[in-house]
Parts: sequence; C-alpha cells; structure tokens
Amino acid sequence: MHGCPHVLCRCGYLRLGDMNTVYLNGEFLPEQEAKVSVFDRGFLFGDSVYEVIPFYQGVGFRMQEHIDRLNHSLRAVRIKNEQNWDAILQTLVDKNGGGNLSVYLQVTRGSAGKRSHVYDDSLQPTVFACCSQIKDIWQEGADEVLPLKAIVTEDLRWHRCDIKSTCLLPNILVLQQAKDEGVQEALFSRDEKLTEGSACNLFLVKRGVLYTPKRSSDILGGITRELILELADKHGVQFQEIDIDYERLLAADEVWVSSSTRGIVPVIEVDGQLIGDGQKGIVWRKMFELFTDFQHKLMTGQ
Ligand code: PLP
Repeated sequence: MHGCPHVLCRCGYLRLGDMNTVYLNGEFLPEQEAKVSVFDRGFLFGDSVYEVIPFYQGVGFRMQEHIDRLNHSLRAVRIKNEQNWDAILQTLVDKNGGGNLSVYLQVTRGSAGKRSHVYDDSLQPTVFACCSQIKDIWQEGADEVLPLKAIVTEDLRWHRCDIKSTCLLPNILVLQQAKDEGVQEALFSRDEKLTEGSACNLFLVKRGVLYTPKRSSDILGGITRELILELADKHGVQFQEIDIDYERLLAADEVWVSSSTRGIVPVIEVDGQLIGDGQKGIVWRKMFELFTDFQHKLMTGQ
C-alpha cells in the first residue's frame, strides 16, 4: 500500500478503501495518529452509540434523519454531546476526497482513566469518525445487484434495538453463523416474530402488498426503511406494518432487506427454502428503481 495521504496518488489511481483522514475529538488527523485511551468506556464496555451515513457525490444522504437518530441514541443512553455534525462530517468527507463515501461516526461516554461501571456526568465524550468507499447504488442497475440467501436465528439482543449502540456481539455472531452456513445474511426472530437482519430492516411482499415489522424497540428505525415506506405511499404500492412470523416469511412472494449502505437487496432463499420463484421479484425491481431514482435526483440536484 502506498504511504501517501492523498486519495489520488501520483500514479493517478484512486486508492479504494484507503481513507486516511479521520476525525477525533475536534481534530482531523491521519488515522495512524488518532489514539484513544484504553480506559475509554466505548472500548471497555461498549458504552457508546454510532451512526453510518452514506455520502454520494460528496453529499450526505438524508443527513437530518441520521442526525435525529443519533440524537435519539445519545439521549436514550444519556450521553450529552451537541456538535455541529453537518460541518464536522462534511469537512471529513471533503478531506477524504468527496465522492461516494460511507461515514462511520461513534460517540462514546469517554474515559475516567479507570475501569468502573458507574460513571460521572462530567465525562467528556469521545467522538470519532472515519470514511470508507462505497458503491454508487443509484448507478448500479437492478441486474447488477447480487441477491442474498439468509438463515433465521434467535434474536439474542437486548430490548432496546432502537438505539444504535456499538454492543454488536449478537449481530456479529449471527452473521458469522450465516457465513459458516454458506449464506450472506441472518434474520433475527424474537418471540416467534421476525424483527430485522444483522444490520438491515426486513420487508416481504405477498400478492403485491409490502409488509414490514412495526417500529418498536425490537428494531432499529432504519432511514432506508422509512424512505421505502414513503416511496411506496407516494407511488401506490400498498403496504402494512405487521408482525411477521416464520410461516409468513417463507410463504412470501418476495423478501428484501434494506440499509443505507446497501440500499434494498432481495433475499431469494431462507433456511435453504426458495422464496417465491427464487428470483428477484417485480415489486423489488419497481422499488429499487424508485429508490435509486430518488437518490440520484437528490444527489445531482435534479
Ligand atoms: N437494523 C440494524 C440492526 C442496522 O444495524 C441497520 C443499519 O446499520 C439497519 C437496520 C438499517 O438502517 P439504515 O437504513 O438507517 O441503514
């Protein structure tokens, strides 16, 4: 790997995945120089929350919604931290060359210089942000999207999945289990109801109607989920927010998952059983087009 900090090297190649400038507590630094304390509560206890925000053509996608969700997470875990997030993240993206980037932002409760479960309200939160390259979903046609296969696993997470907390061990383990079983995604089931995927929301289609689990503390309120429902409403696709059990899932004509960085992705097999005819569905194709068109217009200012 080249050592230079520029996105465009002298040789003219864009160094994908080598986003070098990070943000840490008020400073923009080369990633090698960014250091946090071993007593940081994010490190010791997972006492922190995060956001992932896609920037397309250097412009944040649904920025206000992401900031609102971050503030919801911060309030819920009682971390007090107000910042001009727009300005910080835009500067970070610009310093990393703009384009199509995913920004990871984490706010921990900070460090008291010792390990103790109890905390003092006077702690200074640690704020960290970095970028990585993402694909331009709106320029990728529906035919290019790789469909997924998934397993269903018990949802062993806590009861505040609406908080975007960095305590992601259950999510990590189920995704690894999926990988071990030769598939790409894991769907959580709690009390006989499907909740969401390892890092995505869940949708199904039956006889042309779109269904998704209701918003509750069992799922993360996905920015993409919200947009899909807005687009469905606007374009006459009927939808309902309901409980989805295993039988309903397997009997669906189509299953999709959604997230900001991956967009809307079809799931064509669950636990070894084909969903519908095992192909990308027509409602998915319609929604994919509406979604990517919406993004495209927003990003290009058309
Ligand atoms: N559910 C979980 C558990 C997630 O981690 C994510 C994204 O990371 C989502 C849903 C999708 O949310 P969004 O559409 O805001 O990316």
